[in-house]
Amino acid sequence: MRPEAPDVRGQRALVYSLGMEGRDLAAWLLAAGAEVVMSDTRSERQLAATGAAAPPGVTRTVVGQPLLDPAGFDLVAVSQSVLRSDRAVRRARELGIPLLSQMQLFLQLCPGRVVGITGSSGKSTTTALVGEMARVAGIDHVVGGNIGAALLGRLTEIGPATTVILEISHTQLQYTDRSPAIAAITNVTPNHLDQFTWDEYVGLKRAILLRQRLEDVAVLNVADATSRTLVPDVRGRLLRASLECAPAGDGAWLSGNAVRLRLHGHEREVVDRADIHLRGRHNLANVVMACAVAGAAGIGDAAMARGVRGFRGVPHRLEVVGSAVGATWINDSIATSPERTVAGLNAFAEPVVLLLGGREKNLPLEGLREAVRQRCRAVVCFGEAAELFRTAIGGAVGVTRTVGSLTDAVATAATLVQPGDVVLMAPAGTSFDAYPHFEARGEAFRTLVRALPGFREEVASEPPHARALGPRAGRTTHCWR
Ligand code: ADP
Repeated sequence: MRPEAPDVRGQRALVYSLGMEGRDLAAWLLAAGAEVVMSDTRSERQLAATGAAAPPGVTRTVVGQPLLDPAGFDLVAVSQSVLRSDRAVRRARELGIPLLSQMQLFLQLCPGRVVGITGSSGKSTTTALVGEMARVAGIDHVVGGNIGAALLGRLTEIGPATTVILEISHTQLQYTDRSPAIAAITNVTPNHLDQFTWDEYVGLKRAILLRQRLEDVAVLNVADATSRTLVPDVRGRLLRASLECAPAGDGAWLSGNAVRLRLHGHEREVVDRADIHLRGRHNLANVVMACAVAGAAGIGDAAMARGVRGFRGVPHRLEVVGSAVGATWINDSIATSPERTVAGLNAFAEPVVLLLGGREKNLPLEGLREAVRQRCRAVVCFGEAAELFRTAIGGAVGVTRTVGSLTDAVATAATLVQPGDVVLMAPAGTSFDAYPHFEARGEAFRTLVRALPGFREEVASEPPHARALGPRAGRTTHCWR
């Protein structure tokens, strides 16, 4: 039986944001018989650049000004891009107007079993990996959430036997009041501190555990210090994932050259490291996490292994564009925090020319400086935060350049490379200073690189894990029991 939808017939609904979630909410509300007004702070021009337009049937669209006052509306539907602390959202709460969000509504209405994957980084990769394992296993499944198409519009595809594999962001967790049956947290590290305090941010991740039921399953990465502190918050069964050592109880971990899995006390090897075609130690962590999640979801070992073997990564995540001027060019546009840039840098043993820039998010930069010192031949800083990044890494590398745009950064990098180098566009800042989203920045980078003299798509092949271990290889580690 399908869960019952809230009755919104004839209600006046105000939808905040014309982004993907706002449009999905508006379409659902219209189909359910509500009268819909949409409001977005972006200008017509900015919205047109992202391809955003109100769905047919919306009564009124108000753009290019502060979010419309909610007074007089029966309900407010909020996209995750609008923070709970936003004045308009606070006002709606003060006025006692019910708030709806896409993720909340989806979790309420989804008749299938939901596997939710959140964390500071690795969400998309882990979600896509579990999706690939489910596809190979041949089970009825849907992949979505923060990745892929609108969720509410897909409800008709989902039945009670469907497994829904959802990427869930911290901003989506702001507005949810229930949790998936299987909830995984890849890690919790400083991010988005321009929007939340650290305690608030950790609290959003904790909430996904606190709202689970006793019959639910949580998967935590116990190699991550903050995730470990969340163990006492697990309500149901706990599976541990770890790159460092065999954890206590059920879970998945890396042991020598293999990912091992223990479920209901039964331990076995599921995939060999040589079969993982993703660069970077962080991606090994994602594979381990994906195996634990897939195990919790009942996906068989053989499908898990085949899923990993066939997986080549998600676009804009350490994506190899090709080679030009003697170097390999890598698009890691998703690296919108210093920590992600460090993860990207650690995936390469070759000297790196790093493109750093975009809009900064008030995050600590000491770790980045150290990684730059260890890995980089040169750094080219571009965009709004160019000067700030240049100052932060000052002296850590022999060559630094400051330029205006990504176009100039690519051109400058091409003059700095030596044969065998890697040029890594892992900017540590968001794209919003110059692009509507990180995908647009990544696409711009691809286009610029493809236009370089002698560009070829192929790169010299290398054993996938010759470079995967990064500086921590061989380090003595301890187990968390
Ligand atoms: P998310 O969906 O959480 O943004 P992605 O899977 O898209 O994460 O990966 C984005 C970037 O985050 C990667 O390019 C890499 O720089 C970094 N990253 C991915 N997985 C991890 C991890 N497990 N630990 C640390 N950093 C990671």
